[in-house]
Amino acid sequence: MFLTEKKALNEIDEAIKKYKKVGIIGCASCASVCLTGGSKEVKEMEKHLKAFGKEVTFTISIDEPCDKRVLKEDIRFVEDEVEDTEAVVVLSCGTGVQTIGEFIGKKVIAGTNSKYIAQTEHIGEYNALCAGCDECRLNFTGGVCTVTLCPKGLLNGPCEGHNGINCEVFEDKECVFVKSYDLLTKYSEEENLNKIFEPRDYGYSTTRTKI
Ligand code: SF4
Ligand code: SF4
Repeated sequence: MFLTEKKALNEIDEAIKKYKKVGIIGCASCASVCLTGGSKEVKEMEKHLKAFGKEVTFTISIDEPCDKRVLKEDIRFVEDEVEDTEAVVVLSCGTGVQTIGEFIGKKVIAGTNSKYIAQTEHIGEYNALCAGCDECRLNFTGGVCTVTLCPKGLLNGPCEGHNGINCEVFEDKECVFVKSYDLLTKYSEEENLNKIFEPRDYGYSTTRTKI
């Protein structure tokens, strides 16, 4: 799941101030799960925009607005209304916002801030376990990600600050390398304890795939 948080309303109001006819598109997938773009949030945004003096031309929730195939199918239900709209507030992650903007060819306004790939503990509590580094090392660590769970993002560790169990930065949390040691021992993969990772190739971090 990709985690988003609601953008401050005054930021949205500023972005939309010169447009009168406004549509709203929610995301029925990730943004719905993290309560930023589901049908309830779409309704709340409609109420807010009307109170702000806007004419809301349409509202719709799309299953996965980041998927062009789904977007193409679902947007047909509001085709005429989109035509009659100046700008659209999108309650999804940044990928959904851009996909919609590209597809409908209208001004799009992001209604959320995009955070990270998240594990859902329960609604309202999420954990970041993967930073999408493109060179996954989980097979050598016992299945825990040091890039994400070590606050220093170390590949090789631990650093000198741990106290044998807990992290020096997040004192209430176990050092991820201690956890990795326990898991590698549990799975009889001690040989991986001697593995030294080369520095990350940040060339992989260049994620720009299109313009
Ligand atoms: S090493 Fe960590 S950040 Fe990189 S892909 Fe694997 S889980 Fe994600
Ligand atoms: S104590 Fe462990 S988790 Fe904390 S910063 Fe050092 S290596 Fe990273």
